[in-house]
Amino acid sequence: MASVTLEGITKRYEDVTAVDDMTLEIEDGEFVTFVGPSGCGKSTTMETIAGLTLPTGGTIEIGGRDVTNLPPKDRGISMVFQNIALFPHMDVYDNVSFGLRLRKYEQEEVDRRVEEAADIVQLEGMMDRMPSEMSGGQRQRVAIARAIVRNPDAFLMDEPLANLDAELRVHMRTQLQRLHRELDTTIIYVTHDQAQAMTMSDRIAVINSGVLQQVAPPLECYNEPANLFVAGFIGSPAMNFVEGEVVDGGFESQYTQIDSDPEAHGVTPGQDITVGVRPEDVHLERNAAEADAPTKAFDAVVDVIEPMGKEVNAYLLFDRDVEASAEGRGEGQLLINLDPDTEIAEGDDVRIVMDREKTHLFDRASGDAITHSLE
Ligand code: ADP
Repeated sequence: MASVTLEGITKRYEDVTAVDDMTLEIEDGEFVTFVGPSGCGKSTTMETIAGLTLPTGGTIEIGGRDVTNLPPKDRGISMVFQNIALFPHMDVYDNVSFGLRLRKYEQEEVDRRVEEAADIVQLEGMMDRMPSEMSGGQRQRVAIARAIVRNPDAFLMDEPLANLDAELRVHMRTQLQRLHRELDTTIIYVTHDQAQAMTMSDRIAVINSGVLQQVAPPLECYNEPANLFVAGFIGSPAMNFVEGEVVDGGFESQYTQIDSDPEAHGVTPGQDITVGVRPEDVHLERNAAEADAPTKAFDAVVDVIEPMGKEVNAYLLFDRDVEASAEGRGEGQLLINLDPDTEIAEGDDVRIVMDREKTHLFDRASGDAITHSLE
């Protein structure tokens, strides 16, 4: 086990800054996930920790030891990647034990470690199988077992579940959480999938364009996103945004008006703001009791209804003149979650309220969060 500390890590490729001045301390035994859209610099950050690429600037410490210029093999880490490279002509035992045998470990020690790893990833009884006889999930577990036997100070995992089908991915998510609990070791994980980040991590590090946006426990990123980027990226379906401005006595957009005391939130009339509200925090006026503190009601019209079984997604337009965008999430549009038994139909006129306690405010110029509750 070891802490991992990034201090001002920057990686530049000719005209691209893939990682921009990243400073982050990952505690001993912590499960931290780098999450962000494709191309935001997650893998590059991971590669600098692994030693597969050298940073242009900054330092990396693992367990208090400066490893910035050490080769991967001297960093005390094990890696698991999206593309599992098992040796096709070797059975599971040989694949898992390969590194140990290369390092001339005693046979007894090799057997002990392989057995222990096989137990953790539930591969007992499969030691004689060849990779071609295994499912994608089983092969991925072999790759993880191979990483475990090295007894690393930290695991680095880059999209290890990306090639698995959806059902298996959910199953492996649980397995990885168990693995973390059993090994009690530091895990740094990379994914573009916010659901994986939310479900497994102690903390998530949200990255956009090479820059860290927020590092916090998943629910903190969800409930108190630091800025518009995090608010829009974490959570599915995503948060609704309504662009407006601060006026005397509240916030106003083309379609909404929320009474509030601007001064209490440190904003001034005329300032451009964006109001953010999650689909589950908007309610029909007739069910306003579901909100802790309902806002004044707004008119809307139901565009599309999506029954999901345990809930209903209703895509609303603030006005019949709003031109609906393909994904239903543009300006003048609002997605709300309703109870599955709500009587509602496409084309209905509805009145809606937001929950003031769950309504976020962002400064539009900087994108930074101003408040996460209008109460
Ligand atoms: P992610 O893992 O978040 O998808 P990457 O870390 O792979 O993102 O890439 C971050 C940025 O750096 C991208 O713009 C990518 O094109 C660029 N990049 C990554 N590797 C190289 C490279 N070897 N040469 C030039 N540009 C690169």
